[in-house]
Amino acid sequence: MVIATRRFEFSAAHRYWRDDWSAAENERVFGPYTSPYGHGHNYTLDVSITGQLDERTGMVMNMTELKAIVNEVLEEFDHKHLNFDTPYFRDQVPTTENFIRVLWRLIAARLPAHARLAHLRLYEQPDLWADYDGVGETQFSRLYTFASAHRLHAPALNDEENREIYGKCNNPNGHGHNYTLEVTVQGEIDPATGMLVDMAWLDQTVHSVIDPLHLHHLDNEIAAFADRPSTAENIIVYLWNELAPRLEGRLALLRLWETRKNIFSYAGPASVPA
Ligand SMILES: [Zn+2]
Ligand SMILES: [Zn+2]
Repeated sequence: MVIATRRFEFSAAHRYWRDDWSAAENERVFGPYTSPYGHGHNYTLDVSITGQLDERTGMVMNMTELKAIVNEVLEEFDHKHLNFDTPYFRDQVPTTENFIRVLWRLIAARLPAHARLAHLRLYEQPDLWADYDGVGETQFSRLYTFASAHRLHAPALNDEENREIYGKCNNPNGHGHNYTLEVTVQGEIDPATGMLVDMAWLDQTVHSVIDPLHLHHLDNEIAAFADRPSTAENIIVYLWNELAPRLEGRLALLRLWETRKNIFSYAGPASVPA
């Protein structure tokens, strides 16, 4: 099956607030997102469809047709306030996790019989998004960064072998990277908060793992890399092992950018490569 994806952009305001909670309870759970005036985002929506290829046109579905269908759906949200101008968030908080399910229902219902909605990804901002495929659990992802020095040098190899294998990465005085870590969690959405995980808790948990690496030298200052090379592969496994238990079974995927060109993915020891 071929999957075709089209990207859409729209802008909307929203506010996290439950009328049936006290102001203090709203503040405690939603923090700065409770501002009575609302705040806003440039949302990006990736719509993926699949289906039998039309033999004559060679397409799953005419992109112009898809564009018209999705734009009709998005018209209801674009340059609007999600809480007040749409009927979908009267009894649920307009979180990315809830919003993506609303969009799924609206888009799936409008597609012609020969096409099927395969996947939606909704970015609330470039470093925060949700994924939904209509049947499984919702996924929520967020990007974090840390800046560390390191040196690729394996204790199991002699100096000459290290120089040969790692080249300039073996420089004795080290070098460094702005690492970007993508953390994807998965699970049931809490119907009260509309969130898959409490964002403050997620941030705190991830920072408890990456802050000790940030602005430090991995090999010289982090015990885990004292006797194994600080390759991105070893770093991502280390991050998984530290994060998975703290995220209480919610961690679904890690992705680590060592540079903009070197990207590594890991879904835990039990995962089978796709
Ligand atoms: Zn927001
Ligand atoms: Zn490096």
